[in-house]
Amino acid sequence: MIIQLKPYAGKPALDKLVQVLAADGIAYERLDIFAGDVYILVGIKGDTSKLNEDKFTALAYVQEVHRISDPFKELSRQFHPKGTAFKLANGHKVGAELTIIGGPCAVESEGQLMKSAKLAQEAGANVLRGGAFKPRTLHRSFQGLGEEGLKLLVQAREATGLPVVSEIMDARDIPLFEKYAIDIWQVGARNCLNYTFLDALSQLKNPRPVMLKRGDHVTVSEFLGAALRLYDGNPQVILCERGDKTPDKVYRNVLNLNNVAYLKQNYHLPVFVDPSHGTGVRKLVPDLSLAGIAAGADGLMVEVHHQPEKALCDGAQSLSREFKELVPLVRTIYALRHGR
Ligand code: PEP
Ligand code: MN
Repeated sequence: MIIQLKPYAGKPALDKLVQVLAADGIAYERLDIFAGDVYILVGIKGDTSKLNEDKFTALAYVQEVHRISDPFKELSRQFHPKGTAFKLANGHKVGAELTIIGGPCAVESEGQLMKSAKLAQEAGANVLRGGAFKPRTLHRSFQGLGEEGLKLLVQAREATGLPVVSEIMDARDIPLFEKYAIDIWQVGARNCLNYTFLDALSQLKNPRPVMLKRGDHVTVSEFLGAALRLYDGNPQVILCERGDKTPDKVYRNVLNLNNVAYLKQNYHLPVFVDPSHGTGVRKLVPDLSLAGIAAGADGLMVEVHHQPEKALCDGAQSLSREFKELVPLVRTIYALRHGR
């Protein structure tokens, strides 16, 4: 960490800063070589990851505080060049092989879930999705079946052998997600920066893999900060890109493929892409699925419904038969990128 004093602040400012540093036992070095006459730079020695930089930025004579090391270094490929991988109950290795998640936005009924699950499985999905708790914009619209939805997911898991992913919206539902042994716990875009909730998930005794969806407008740094919170207690974290809101009314969201490539290149957690929420438009989902995998994603999550026109939630962005045509293309792109 380098602390840059205000121009011409001079020795009086340096003396004051030295007192602040000495009070906390922080080792430092004055970096005159780079400073010239105008600026004084002070380099902080040792591990600075736990230092609160605001303490220095708040000082009247400090111009700027520069962090040199990556604040998310535990997630960085610099120290962990190999990507993180972990196994699900069916032996599928997230991060080491292509993960294809298919299934309805919401679990609506036994018949709907079973038909949609079979469709997704026949198409080649290796994980089944289905929301039991739905974060709907309008509280009067379908909110999901709650615990009943989780029970139906367990039935579908038994019938298909596919592990299941479902969104947990509230720490009060943790016992239910444990009871039904939900294989991947989804933290939705709306909860991406809900720190008390993330901490509760991170502090579980036997945490399950968590798929963290980036909130629209959540920056890469905020996203990584949220992921690191989870990772501190649970190394099985998946980063999922699902798009930003833009003023454009043509799309519900715009899938941010920059993030897919950037996160994959620089960090070791598995990166998934969700072109269903990332576009909101059924016809765009296949092309953006391919683009997401081409950009480096380890996994794809697509909403699949046996009758999208009758869906209680997100029918306009759900695929049905088209999913069967999409999966082999996705596999081909993945194989081209990864040489397998
Ligand atoms: C979902 O995946 O069902 C969902 C609600 O997604 P998001 O949190 O990305 O809006
Ligand atoms: Mn949805």
